[in-house]
Amino acid sequence: MSRTGLSPCVIVHYHEISLKRGNRPLFLRRLQENLARAVSDLGPVRVVQLPGRIVLDLEGTPEPQGVWERLDRVCGIANTALAVRTGSALDRIKAAVDHVIDRQTFTSFRITARRAFKTFPLTSTDLNRELGAHVLARRPDARVDLHHAGLNVHVEVLPHEAFVYPDRRPGPGGLPVGSGGTVAALISGGIDSPVASWRMIKRGCRVLFVHFHSVPYLPDTSVRKVRQLVSRLTQWQYVSRLYLVPFGEIQREVVLAVSPMARVVVYRRLMVRIAEALARQSGAQALVTGESLGQVASQTLHNLARIDEVALLPVLRPLIGMDKIEITDEARRLDTLEISNEADADCCTLFVPAHPGTRLSQEEVADMESRLDISALVRAGVEAATMETFDFPLGAGTHPARPAPRRRVAPPPVS
Ligand code: ATP
Ligand code: MG
Repeated sequence: MSRTGLSPCVIVHYHEISLKRGNRPLFLRRLQENLARAVSDLGPVRVVQLPGRIVLDLEGTPEPQGVWERLDRVCGIANTALAVRTGSALDRIKAAVDHVIDRQTFTSFRITARRAFKTFPLTSTDLNRELGAHVLARRPDARVDLHHAGLNVHVEVLPHEAFVYPDRRPGPGGLPVGSGGTVAALISGGIDSPVASWRMIKRGCRVLFVHFHSVPYLPDTSVRKVRQLVSRLTQWQYVSRLYLVPFGEIQREVVLAVSPMARVVVYRRLMVRIAEALARQSGAQALVTGESLGQVASQTLHNLARIDEVALLPVLRPLIGMDKIEITDEARRLDTLEISNEADADCCTLFVPAHPGTRLSQEEVADMESRLDISALVRAGVEAATMETFDFPLGAGTHPARPAPRRRVAPPPVS
C-alpha cells in the first residue's frame, strides 16, 4: 500500500465460475493464469485471489488504464473496475471515496456499498447512508439520485480491505480459456469461421486453426487473411496454432471424378477428414465450423449430414442458428470483419458450379467418392500441412502477433 494508504488495483468479478462447485478452484486458477498472461507486457502486476473476486495489484504499474482495458478480452470475466484499495476501517473507506470523487465531475451520485462479511459494524444500507452523507458534505452542489445517478460510487468491504471505484466495464463473460479442452476450427478467411472460433474460445476452449488454400492455383490472399484473423483471435487465447493445408491438387483430383453439383460437399468431407487427422495429433476433441443452417447450398440439413458422416469427432457449429446480420455484427465487435471483408478467392470457389446440389443423398456422395482414393488424398493433405504458431502479447499488444517460421508437420497415422 502507498503512503496515502490507497493503492491502485483492478478488481475482477466473475459470474459463471461462481456457479461451479467442485471444480471452481481449477477454473479460478486458469483465470488467474490468463489474467497474468494478458497483461504480462504492461509492467509488474500481481494477481491475488480474494473471496469472490480477483484483484490485480497495480502498485508500480505505469499504465493502470491499459491493464484495465486489456481485460476486455479475458474470457470468464463478468465485469472489472479500476479501483482504489484501502483498509476496511470506516475512515479509510471515506478517504478512498474522497480520492475517487475528487477525480470526477458529477451533479448527481449514489453509493452502492456491499459488505462481504457480516461482522462489519455497519450494514450495507447504513454504509450507503453514511458515505452518501460524507459525499454530500464534501460536494454540497451534488444530489443523491438512486435511479439515474451521474456517478455511481461502488464500495466493496472485505474483512481486511475495502475497494472503491466509480465505473465497471463489462467483461466478455464465458469461461477461462484452457478450461474447456482443445478444438480444431476450420477457418476460411470468410466472416463466419472466425466468429465461430471465437465463440468456442469464449466457452473456455483453446482453438487451433486449420486452413485449406489453393496456392499456387489461386493467389495466397486467403492465407494472408487467415494469418491476420488468427493474430486477432490470439489476443483472446494468447497462443494459437495454424495448420495450412495445400488443397489445390486434391481439388484437381476431385474435379476429374466428381460431378459439379456434388463437389462442394466432397471438398468439405475431405477437409473434415484432414482436419480431424490434424486435430487428433494435437489432442483436439472436436471440430468447429462456421456453418449456419441454410446459408448456402452446402449448409442445408441434408448436406450437413453428409459432412458429419465422415467425422468421428463431434463437429460443433456455434453459428448454426444465427443470421448473417447477427454474425456480421459479432465480427465487427471482434475486429475481424474488416479483414474478412477483404476480397479474396476462397479455395471452394475453385472449380465449383453456380448451383451446387442442396439435397445430396448418402448413396450419391458415396458413389462419387468411390471414384477417388480418399485415404491417399487425406494422407497427402496431412503430410503437406505446415504449422505456424502465434503468441500474445507481443510488445505493445496492438501489433499483430508475427507467425513463427513455417515447419512441416510430422505425418500422423491415417487409416
Ligand atoms: P466463412 O465466412 O466462415 O468462410 P461461408 O459463409 O463462406 O463461411 P462456406 O464457404 O460454405 O461458408 O464454408 C462453411 C465452413 O466451412 C466455414 O465456416 C469453415 O468452417 C469451413 N471452410 C470453408 N472453406 C474453408 C477453407 N478454405 N479452409 C478451412 N475451412 C473452410
Ligand atoms: Mg467461406
